[in-house]
Amino acid sequence: MGEPDPTPPAPPNKLRATALTRDFGRGPRAVHALGPLDLSVAPGEFVCVVGPSGCGKSTLLRIAAGLLRPSAGELEIRTGSPRPAAMIFQDYGIHDWKTVLANVRFGLDIQRTPRREGDARAARWLARMGLSDVADAYPSALSGGMRQRVAIARALAVEPEILLMDEPFGALDAQLRTILQDELLELTQSTRTTTLFITHSLEEAIVLGDRVLVMSARPGRIIAERRPPFDRPRSAGVRSAPEFTALRSELWELLRGEVRAGAVPV
Ligand code: ADP
Ligand code: MG
Repeated sequence: MGEPDPTPPAPPNKLRATALTRDFGRGPRAVHALGPLDLSVAPGEFVCVVGPSGCGKSTLLRIAAGLLRPSAGELEIRTGSPRPAAMIFQDYGIHDWKTVLANVRFGLDIQRTPRREGDARAARWLARMGLSDVADAYPSALSGGMRQRVAIARALAVEPEILLMDEPFGALDAQLRTILQDELLELTQSTRTTTLFITHSLEEAIVLGDRVLVMSARPGRIIAERRPPFDRPRSAGVRSAPEFTALRSELWELLRGEVRAGAVPV
């Protein structure tokens, strides 16, 4: 046996996209929606992606979730267990015909989590998301913010190795959005779940992200990357830091041209 290696290799990325490309349709009507795009997410990292509307963000996330195949290139997800990647959509994706508790149990049932453990875990996540009192209610009786909390509780209850979130707070009003951002910040800093998070909101990306990636207009590629200069655990107070405002302006300058490019008819 030799000397121990003084610099052990970094753990492999949980998610890696290499020259990832996706087209929709064929011939003259084909839409080149995405890529070629390269991207990697390290274990425990929270990566935010911002980009103009229609640039391929949801396409990227759907490929990561295994809901869509790439046209070329690859997207590799490396998990150490059969635990799945969990996805949270903007429109919640929860089932209106199931109670709140049954929605949170749903992923656990698919995973065949033993009943007692599943009950305990569901109860824990309901409590954590402030949903214990509405466990037996149906989602249609709840406000948008509560419904989105159900979606988050359901995704996190399966303790996914990778969390994929597609504009999860996009349908919420500004105040509620801020509250859920703060909750998610606290939550992910304690669970250290590897997360790929798509958002329209630069503020949201800066508050939550270890890295913020900026996508070009369609076909979406990564054109810039910034690291918000805030230590972990960080608090919601970073919103009022001068560095926050500076980074938001910088990101907006990068994005502005792409939003314009995306708006030009082709
Ligand atoms: P974003 O989430 O960034 O707004 P999307 O990934 O939803 O963008 O879409 C990227 C582009 O691909 C858009 O032009 C969209 O119209 C097109 N697109 C997405 N899904 C399909 C599909 N199933 N069929 C045809 N075009 C699609
Ligand atoms: Mg989208």
